[in-house]
Amino acid sequence: RRVGARIAGRAHDLCATVGGPAGGAEVEPAAVRVVASTDPARLDEVVAEVELGGPETILAAAVAARSAAREWAAVPAPVRGSVIGSFGRLVADNADALARLVTREVGKPAAEARGEVQEIIDTCEFFRGEGRRLYGQTVPSEMPDRELFTFREPLGVMMVITAGNFPVAVPSWYLVPALLAGNTVVWKPAEYAAACAQAMLDLLTAAGVPAGAVNLVPADGRATSLGLERALAAGAVDKVGFTGSTEVGRVIGALCGRHLQSPCLELGGKNPMVVAPDADLDAAVSAAVFGGFGTAGQRCTSLGTAIVHESVHAAFVRRLDAAVSAAVIGDPTGDVLYGPLLDARFAAGFERHLTLLRDHHRLSGSTALGRITGATAGSAQPPGPGGLPRNGPRRGFVGDPDRGLYYHPLIVDGVRPDDELFREETFGPIVGVTTYRDLDEAIELANLPGYGLSSSIYTADAASALRFRRGVRAGMVSVNGSTTGAEAHLPFGGNGRSGNGSRQSGVWMLDQVTRWQSLSWDYSGRLQRAQLDTVV
Ligand code: NAP
Repeated sequence: RRVGARIAGRAHDLCATVGGPAGGAEVEPAAVRVVASTDPARLDEVVAEVELGGPETILAAAVAARSAAREWAAVPAPVRGSVIGSFGRLVADNADALARLVTREVGKPAAEARGEVQEIIDTCEFFRGEGRRLYGQTVPSEMPDRELFTFREPLGVMMVITAGNFPVAVPSWYLVPALLAGNTVVWKPAEYAAACAQAMLDLLTAAGVPAGAVNLVPADGRATSLGLERALAAGAVDKVGFTGSTEVGRVIGALCGRHLQSPCLELGGKNPMVVAPDADLDAAVSAAVFGGFGTAGQRCTSLGTAIVHESVHAAFVRRLDAAVSAAVIGDPTGDVLYGPLLDARFAAGFERHLTLLRDHHRLSGSTALGRITGATAGSAQPPGPGGLPRNGPRRGFVGDPDRGLYYHPLIVDGVRPDDELFREETFGPIVGVTTYRDLDEAIELANLPGYGLSSSIYTADAASALRFRRGVRAGMVSVNGSTTGAEAHLPFGGNGRSGNGSRQSGVWMLDQVTRWQSLSWDYSGRLQRAQLDTVV
């Protein structure tokens, strides 16, 4: 169901199993503003015209979701699971088309986009079965002739607000379990990923999700928070799921707190990778390249800083530099390490982060600073820190650099703990490198920025790996693996500046989309008082 705001035209070429507009009436047709979602690799190409709703649209969507909630919750969980199974099959049938749309709308390289779509399929596979479980418990009573039980109950209406760097997988992490558990949803996607959102809604509708159960509302951030505030005050939203920046997460957390609600907050990261003296350096370099530059560094789990033992530091940096300079960057429809940044807003943000470079930073010799352009004379620009040339062409670039939001990869060696570059998420193709002497120092450095999403250690020593796991304050730890990459059935989430401790994926997500209800059933025929009548 689309409420108010619309995405004009069919921006996707998903197969005939997905047809027609999403069901449901449009409550408020007047758009507050129309924006174009463009292809970041071909900025002159519009993927979708997006009519943004206002605060009233959000409220109307929440009210619509509330009206649909009782009926959807009454559908038996195994039957809801079947709908999720159909959705997963439809996504699989349309996987290539959906992946192409992800590439076109947010510039994610084809292989990564296909992987993102696979994550939806995996999520559906997991939660489809959960429809036949959704277990409660039987609990022994301290009284004779009394039985205790627990039940998982749906929450009601869940408002889901998502970033656009994973425009279909991350929303599925909310939508699939929320629907499976019997909730209805209001979904506010990122403006620049609205066509992907529309495609998801079309697939959900075709899979049998009834009108009103998912209400898609494109809106800007300000309208969203005003609308959410009204919806919370009206009692029309029971839970918020938010994936986005730490800054906005604080706003959402405060808003929900005022209404005694605890949201699911999945926020930013400054993810460390420790490279121990006994590490397999080539493997660590591969993980740094994929973790730091995959999705152009625009993952919440992207590698922030490589914390490298001083004995292997020089060799690590040399090999990383060589690997990055040999990598192919460019048109995301091809086989590239990374494509353009997601949207102009992220290009501007990344350029702001480039101003955090300082004279003590040593920049890798194989690259340049800032946007990749087609100009042949990169040196026409004033040099950046370290005498690095700005702009200019790049060897190993495919496509037309002038049509897209392409940026040079940057390895910044010598970052210090008090550098902003060390402490803040940069959300772009940049990796910091620093050194350590002993594992305690490495763990301290890993925790210093105060995020706590993902982390990694490369070592051949089991004791070091286990000491790191225990010491690091990240929700996710990888031993001899990248900071990025999640399996659909392992808890995903962070601590500190990365979130409020909520976890997505697998059975852990059920605690975000249901509430426990307990039942005490006495058949003794008399009043039995816990504690007072208990004989121990
Ligand atoms: P953002 O600015 O926080 O935006 C995220 C979503 O919130 C967008 O839909 C945005 O709408 C909306 N929004 C913005 N301001 C709002 C407000 N005041 N009230 C309500 N909604 C508001 O994040 P971003 O910069 O787009 O995305 C990148 C961030 O997301 C990074 O920090 C990244 O690490 C994080 N992220 C985290 C995870 C995770 O699972 N931990 C996954 C992916 C991304 P519009 O953009 O449409 O205005």
